Amino acid sequence: MSEPDPTFRHCPVCAGALRPLRADVPPAAAAPGARHLRCERCGFVLYQDPKVAAGAIIHPPGAPGEVVLVRRAIDPGYGRWVFPGGYVDRGEPVEDAAAREAREECGLEIRLDALIGVYSYRGRTPVVIVYAATWMGGVLAHDEESLEARVFARAEVPWDALAFTSTRQALEDYFAGRLHPGGVRESRGTAADASRLP
Ligand SMILES: [Zn+2]
Repeated sequence: MSEPDPTFRHCPVCAGALRPLRADVPPAAAAPGARHLRCERCGFVLYQDPKVAAGAIIHPPGAPGEVVLVRRAIDPGYGRWVFPGGYVDRGEPVEDAAAREAREECGLEIRLDALIGVYSYRGRTPVVIVYAATWMGGVLAHDEESLEARVFARAEVPWDALAFTSTRQALEDYFAGRLHPGGVRESRGTAADASRLP
């Protein structure tokens, strides 16, 4: 869940030249890529914001020690494993994005049970929000963005072949039971559901 940080040169409103808006970001706080740009013709400010991604660590009903992972068919992380997830659309609730990605990427209908955590890194564009979820319906499949999808028992998780730092850290938090059931908006899960997770 990362992408190249392109250098924007032209205003998306009027096609004027963009110049750094340095006063807007104190140097000490400026992560690479956090430099905002202002159009020298119309004054439009292009904020180089984070990209929000949502993912779900999904377990089959009654098997909280097992998780669904997909093996990426695209870069970054080609050939490496990650839980289903992707970028949140503008205006889309993060929970909806997590459920949509599970449906699109591996054909599963899920119930979000708990927030696991929010993962962000200095100098990196994505902010990754990860939920614990239960596989409620559908048949495990994969789309063209993945080479395969499968269920791993905890002892089988391919720790050396995970796609991203956030993948490893969220799986570690999940298996350690660091779950936040109140972190799911309009949760249909219950604290009891979450407490049964590992
Ligand atoms: Zn402009």
